[in-house]
Amino acid sequence: MYSILKRLALSLLPSSALDALEFPLRSLYYPFVKGDKVHCPCCNRSYKSFQEMNREDFEDQLCPGCGSIQRTRLLREYLNLEFPKLQELHILHFSPHKYLRKIILNEKPANYYDTDFVSTRCRYQFDITALELDSNSLDLIIAYHIFEHIPNDRLAMQECFRTLKPNGRMLAQVPWREERTIEDPSITDPKDRLRLFGQEDHVRYYGREDFIKRLEELGFEVQEKKAQDLFDANTLEKESLRGEEIIFDCFKP
Ligand SMILES: [Zn+2]
Repeated sequence: MYSILKRLALSLLPSSALDALEFPLRSLYYPFVKGDKVHCPCCNRSYKSFQEMNREDFEDQLCPGCGSIQRTRLLREYLNLEFPKLQELHILHFSPHKYLRKIILNEKPANYYDTDFVSTRCRYQFDITALELDSNSLDLIIAYHIFEHIPNDRLAMQECFRTLKPNGRMLAQVPWREERTIEDPSITDPKDRLRLFGQEDHVRYYGREDFIKRLEELGFEVQEKKAQDLFDANTLEKESLRGEEIIFDCFKP
């Protein structure tokens, strides 16, 4: 039922109207999906179940109320845990999930730079390799699934380091494996990128240790925070969080 309604909405409405109407439409849908089996920390509602997404390249559990996926919910919980006073912070957030952006905006941070280089849905379109922000000006950067798209990722990381205040932190995620990083700038065919790097617009596949090393070489102190070490089994199950999922919490000394 969910996927039928979603397809119907996507086919009937232009994308600008969909953006504006997404959350009101989801609210109309809520009485049909509410329940007590699962809970979403983003929209703070409970449901009969999350929506299974089983595509060839993507498996996830979508919240029917706000569209959050597993990593968005873990990030929300991590922000609750580690950054309970968002209103005091200067935040840069790359390609934010729509609902998380809404939540953070509602908390009225001291500054919130929501940015998306390839779409106009955010208020800023920063180039991550040349940030138009002062050095030492940010408390928190959220860079989820960004660096694997950037040819000069070291420059992007360096810009994040530059703009963070001392004691500032960047929360990052990239797709990674326990192997060496694979990258080759001469590979530009989307099919080859999909095969080698996991997605048509990715320019590398990181090795976990190498990703950390690149950040550490710039001065970051990186901690790997694993969901199962942060939250109890009941929370992981109820919110459908992946126990093995890692947030790279990068501290600028
Ligand atoms: Zn939700």
